[in-house]
Amino acid sequence: MITWKEVIDFTNNGNLKPDFRVEKTTEEWKTLLTPEQFRITRQKGTERSFSGELCSVHDPGIYSCVCCDTKLFDSTIKFQSGTGWPSFTQPIKENAIKYEADKSFGMIRVEVMCNTCDGHLGHVFPDGPEPSKLRYCINSESIKLKKSGK
Ligand SMILES: [Zn+2]
Repeated sequence: MITWKEVIDFTNNGNLKPDFRVEKTTEEWKTLLTPEQFRITRQKGTERSFSGELCSVHDPGIYSCVCCDTKLFDSTIKFQSGTGWPSFTQPIKENAIKYEADKSFGMIRVEVMCNTCDGHLGHVFPDGPEPSKLRYCINSESIKLKKSGK
């Protein structure tokens, strides 16, 4: 299980190696993604809270990266954070997520990205529920849900 200590460690000392890498040019991403997906994942944008369609979805399934299809989160680790963004307590796999310090807006936060393609997902905070106490705050536009049994 990943805890805040591991998150800080990855942020400061480097991330785990992904299983594989997906690298494309900006132009290639532009043709593959909707304008809103492109703005959020490739230009580190943020959607307005409660605007994302996956915010209130709690169907069982797997959430993967909208850019490269890598599996990132499982619906069993999704929880109601009340923040207006899909929230998870753990990644599906330790090396699925990449962590980097984000010093924009005069704050120090930990940005989370897809470790396979560097697509921006959101941020992680140490105020989630037990046992990991992590809250991965993710843009709906960055992920897609494949419902189980489909
Ligand atoms: Zn990705």
